[in-house]
Amino acid sequence: MAILPIITVPDPRLRKISEPVERVDAEILTLLDDMLETMYDAPGIGLAAIQVAEPRRIVVVDIGKTDETRAPLFLINPEVIWASEELSTYNEGCLSVPDYYDDVKRPARVRIRHLDRAGAVQEFDAEGLLATVVQHELEHLEGGLFIDHLSRLKRERVVKRLTKVARYDEIAAHNRAERESEEAGA
Ligand SMILES: [Zn+2]
Repeated sequence: MAILPIITVPDPRLRKISEPVERVDAEILTLLDDMLETMYDAPGIGLAAIQVAEPRRIVVVDIGKTDETRAPLFLINPEVIWASEELSTYNEGCLSVPDYYDDVKRPARVRIRHLDRAGAVQEFDAEGLLATVVQHELEHLEGGLFIDHLSRLKRERVVKRLTKVARYDEIAAHNRAERESEEAGA
């Protein structure tokens, strides 16, 4: 297994619509395992493949907080086939939107259909935190982000800050590379 780099806003790849998985093969299973390890390492409770720059309809979720309560879900080509009219609000965050949390309202209960690791069709009902996490991750597959639910003003403020952070990181990496080449030349 391997820990994969997580891409963050404003990386334009996060806005891509992910492609369905046609066959659950060894490559897909490896990606699922790597995504789970990456999510645990972050740490996070949900991760969509596009967050590791793979535009495929794959999601891993685990809302268990400790080793004892861990129960990973592997969702391939997941879709919401039913959603309650009742809504609930959670304070959400996202590994691709670092250091920002805000309240988002979503259906309180959903039914999800997906393929499992054996390529078989499965369905399950989710409520509470699990319903929120699954909907948050499925939104990534459409190129969506939880900040799309916020006011334009709030969203622009978050994107602006993260764009600055990305620029600083780029400059720092550039300076580091220059220093290293100077040192190598000395
Ligand atoms: Zn997210």
